[in-house]
Formats: sequence, C-alpha cells, structure tokens
Amino acid sequence: MASHKENEAWKEADLAEDRSFRPTRAQGSRRKAPFYKVLQGMPIAVDAFRYGAIPGVTAYFLTHAHSDHYTNLSSNWKNGPIYCSGDTANLIIHMLAVDPEWVHPLPMDVPTVVPDTGGVTVTLIEANHCPGSCLFFFEGTQTVHAGDSAFKSPFIGSEKVFRYLHCGDFRASPQHVMHPAVRGKNIDHVYLDTTYLDPKYTFPPQPLVISACAELAKRIVSGELIGAPDTNGKRNSTMDAWVMPSERADDTGVKQSKERMLVVVGTYSIGKERIVKAIAQALGTKVYCDAHKMAILRCQNDPELHALLTKDPSEAGVHLLPLGMIVSDKLKAYVQRFKGVYSRAVGFRPTGWTYTPPSGSDLSQAITSIISRGQSRSFAYADLKPMQKSTYAVQLYGIPYSEHSSFFELTCFAMSCDWVKMIATVNVGNEKSRAKMAKWMERWENEKKRNKEPMVKPRAADYW
Ligand SMILES: [Zn+2]
Repeated sequence: MASHKENEAWKEADLAEDRSFRPTRAQGSRRKAPFYKVLQGMPIAVDAFRYGAIPGVTAYFLTHAHSDHYTNLSSNWKNGPIYCSGDTANLIIHMLAVDPEWVHPLPMDVPTVVPDTGGVTVTLIEANHCPGSCLFFFEGTQTVHAGDSAFKSPFIGSEKVFRYLHCGDFRASPQHVMHPAVRGKNIDHVYLDTTYLDPKYTFPPQPLVISACAELAKRIVSGELIGAPDTNGKRNSTMDAWVMPSERADDTGVKQSKERMLVVVGTYSIGKERIVKAIAQALGTKVYCDAHKMAILRCQNDPELHALLTKDPSEAGVHLLPLGMIVSDKLKAYVQRFKGVYSRAVGFRPTGWTYTPPSGSDLSQAITSIISRGQSRSFAYADLKPMQKSTYAVQLYGIPYSEHSSFFELTCFAMSCDWVKMIATVNVGNEKSRAKMAKWMERWENEKKRNKEPMVKPRAADYW
C-alpha cells in the first residue's frame, strides 16, 4: 500500500473505531472493520469479532483468549468458523459459552490449509504471551477483496504468493524468528503487537525474572531472608541489609513451623502461570486457587501445571489471588484465615511497570546501541526490592513481568526477520502515536538495509 493510500486507510480506521459510534439499522447494525483486521486479498479476519459478519470474510481467527481480542464473542456467535489453538478453543467454550460447532482448534507448528479461503495455509506459533496464545503465519495468493476498507489490492487474482505474520499479543523471542515457518521467509506484512513500542519500556528478559522470583521465594520461605524491610521510604535499602544469619532461623525449629510463610501471586483471568509454576516447583509445594480460577487453569493443556493444583489451601504453599488482593491489609486478612498453618505472607505483584530504566536511556540512541544496551541487562533475585508497605508479617514485591515485548525485544525481532511492511495493531487510536511508531519502523528498515548481519545474536534460546 503506498503511503497516501495507507493514510486514507488509517483515516477510515479512525472512523470505524470512533468510540462515540453507535451502529444503527441503516448501517446494517454493525461497526465497520478497520483495514488491519482483515488480511489484504484474503477472506480472513483476525481478532475481529466486534464487527459481526464482515463482508467477504469466511474464516475468523482468534489469537488468544484476552477480552480485548474477543470483544463481542458470545454464545450468540454464528457468523462463521473460528480458528484458534486448542487451549484458546477450550477457554472460549468454557468462559464465553461459544457454540463448539463454530470452534475449530488447529494444530501448532504445522502448515494447515484453511477451508474456503482459496488455499491459504496457516501455521500457529506459540506467542509467549498467555496460555493458548499464538502467532499466525499465513501464506497464499490474494483471491478476494474482503472487509470494509475502500482500498482494493491490485494483486487480487495474480499468482504472487503473499506471506503475513500476525503477532496478536506476543513477547518476542529468538524462538519466533528461528521458527521453520518464519526463518528465511520474506514476509509481506507483519501485524505487530506495538503495546510497548517506545524506548521508555525497558524491562528485563522474562526467563531471568521468572527464575529471580523462584529464587527469592525459596530464600524467603527457607528463612534466609527474614525481617521487615526498611520502611522509611528510602529506596537505597538493599536486600543484604535485612538478611539475617541463617542460625537465627534454624535455632527455633518449632517457631519456624508456626511461622510458615505463604507465597501469594496476583493474577488476572489467564496469564502469569509461568511465574506460579516456577515458584511452586522451587518450593516443592502445591498451588491453590478458587474453583473459578481452577476451571480456567484446567482448560489449558499443561500437565505440569495440573499436577501442582490442589483444592486444599493448607496443602499449598502458593496461592493465586486476583491482583487487587495483593495489598498489605487485604493480604494480612487473607493469611489470618489460615492461622496455625501460615502466619506470614509474601505477595508477588507481576506488572510491566515497576522497572526503572538505567540512567542514560537516550531516546535518540542508535539501533545498534539499543541492542547492545539491552543485551547488557541482566536480572537476579537481589534486584527484586520489597515495596514500601511491606512489614514483617506481609512482604510485597512488584515484579517487572510483562507478557508483551519490551521495546528492545521488538527491535531485536524486527532486525532478525525479513519483512516488507510492519502494521501496528496497538496504540493506533491517534495519529501522533501512529507517527511515532512509524518512525521506529522506518529506522528498523533503514538499519536492516545498512546492516549486512541479518540477525541479532541471542544470549539464550529464549531471550535476546
Ligand atoms: Zn493479550
């Protein structure tokens, strides 16, 4: 799409997404789908359930079971087949009562022909976001103008093969660009999760944060780290300042058993399971949550997680609670319910927002220095600091845990795969934010042309 055409398409999208818009009968009782919800030249829509029956669309894809992606999907859905991963299929049938007749789970990692799409194949790739989330890699010719956009592709009916990578929500990792479906392919459109496409979003690699949480929990529960943190508001209190000698914890075996520490992790409906699993496995304990949450966890094909679950709260050293419960007064009241079993609690609040970028994060820095700075960043348990309201009885930790890509990871991803055009799918509601994101995409493109080395060398298989 030439840039003036693209501007037109975004203007259309702005109108379609206008919050004050109320569909009327005259408009066919439906909101129009913006251009980026329907693949160019293919009768395929992705995460576009709020637009009802989209003209020409014969296949509706869902990347994952988060509400902003399945808006309007319910037991009333009858506009066409829904394609998704097995876990997402279970989740939407369980949570939204979607009629299973419409739900078509697809296998992971193998190209599968999508019925009634003129021979388009799709490969599902684990997105590294929440359970069941995936990227879709589509390959095929352009056969039809579907959707509501006025833009018509000149390639419809031609033999040229198009490749589209739809990222849904994802945390980019080397595994994505190394995937056999993606590696070495020239991708025409990448639909990018641009949630954090801004250099201010620097947070540490997810695998390091997960092991840091597990290590910290282990040290706290074993009694190696006890006592109230410095609550005078100064952030210079380090973990070492309140490490007690281990003899102190050891000399009162009885006291210790009475003072058992409960670990509580705050979660939303789905997501963050990896932290929970890592902590429970490090502690050699079970995981407890309420029946509602348990049913959702059971939708996921994860035998390792299922083996950890228990209905008996006193048997589990790790409890899952809604994120809003991970505040000192509520957690204090919660742990009192288990008097005699647990007397203290440590609460983990996973959020994407608690990490302070190292000083000198220059917004105008070169792509190469964004990468080298990102790759010099590490993270360990001692980097987790107790929150100010922590006490001896209830300790709270904010965890810089994100299931979306950091700016650095988006940059590594863009520099490590072969694409023609990136299309932002998040924060696209205003022109200013779109222009800022387009600037970064342009810089990635220029750097790729300049740089002979096509890939960023990863530090590990699962992070750059
Ligand atoms: Zn999501």
